[in-house]
Parts: sequence; structure tokens; C-alpha cells
Amino acid sequence: MKMLLHLCCGPCAAFPVRHLREAGHEIVGYFYNPNIHPYKEFVRRLDTSKEFAAKVGLDLAVDAAYTLEDYLAGALAAGGDRCRACYELRLRQAARYAKENGFDCFTTTLLVSPYQRHETIREVGEAVAAEENVPFCYIDFRPGWPEGVRISKELELYRQPYCGCIFSERDRYCKPRKEERQCPQDSTPSEKP
Ligand code: SF4
Repeated sequence: MKMLLHLCCGPCAAFPVRHLREAGHEIVGYFYNPNIHPYKEFVRRLDTSKEFAAKVGLDLAVDAAYTLEDYLAGALAAGGDRCRACYELRLRQAARYAKENGFDCFTTTLLVSPYQRHETIREVGEAVAAEENVPFCYIDFRPGWPEGVRISKELELYRQPYCGCIFSERDRYCKPRKEERQCPQDSTPSEKP
């Protein structure tokens, strides 16, 4: 299959790329993550994704549009469900790119992380796939998480300490009360991924 792999960052791509290649798929990476704050962190993760792609010989398409307003509007409107809005923004863009460029399907490296809302990612991926008319390839990459961590360290990739948005960055230092938690990242260990 010719598959578009949405990359949330370089380290999270390590296991999915290996796994999909071993399964015989033709993969192209796709970076679109305007949820990452601040801008310098966004650039650092983009550069790390490019570094990873170069090291493993992965073609990487980049949408470097930093549509901060789109992310924030969705996250704030979603109230306590900001991660769903965040997934939808990124996966819809990936679905559209996959459709416009003749891919058989799309998937995302978000599915490797035990710290993400896995079932929500699946629901959102399948919903935008139906709306954009291109298949979402759901794969539970989580069993490969330790292997991905090992590969990313071997490749000496930058490994970020928070999920991405300004809310998750704040919560590294200022843990919300339990009843105020919105995303699993609110209780993420200090190192992510
Ligand atoms: S915690 Fe992560 S998934 Fe949730 S809104 Fe922030 S960047 Fe997106």
C-alpha cells in the first residue's frame, strides 16, 4: 500500500516507520503540527523530524504552516476535550493531503504513544477518513513503544519533555487538580515520548 504517515515528531516515528516497512508498505511521512508551542519548539521538532527522515531514508512532506489560531480556536472551543480537537485538526489535514496526492490510506505516529488518547485518535481518524473520502489505516503501534524509544536514542534524536501545546507545557510545572485534567498528558511523565 502507498501510505501517508502523519508524523507528530521524529522519535514517535521510529517504530511505525520500521514496522510499516517490514510489512511491505510504501511510506511517505507528513509533518503538520500547529499545536506545538512555542514557535521555537515547533521548529525544533520539525528539524528533528527532518533529521530522522534523512537518517532512515524516508521521504517527508512538510506543511510548515503555523496555524496557531486554528489550533487555539479548536482547543478552546472544545473545552475539556482539547485533545480531540487537536487530533482532528492534524488528521484532517493529513487526510486531505493523502487524498490530493493519490495515497491509498493515511495513518499517524500518534498511535504509538501510551500517553495519548488512543481510542480517541482512532475515532477521529476514522471520522475524518469518512468525511474526506480516503481510508484511515488504524494500527496499534503501542507494543513497539520501547523499541521506538531505543531507536530514537540510538539515532540521537531530540526527545521533547511535553506533548506539544501551551497547556501541556504549563502542566509540566503546574499540575492541574484531578477534576481539571483534560488530556492524559496532564499526568504525563516528565519525558515524552
Ligand atoms: S496535550 Fe497534546 S494532544 Fe492534547 S491538545 Fe495538547 S498537544 Fe494536542
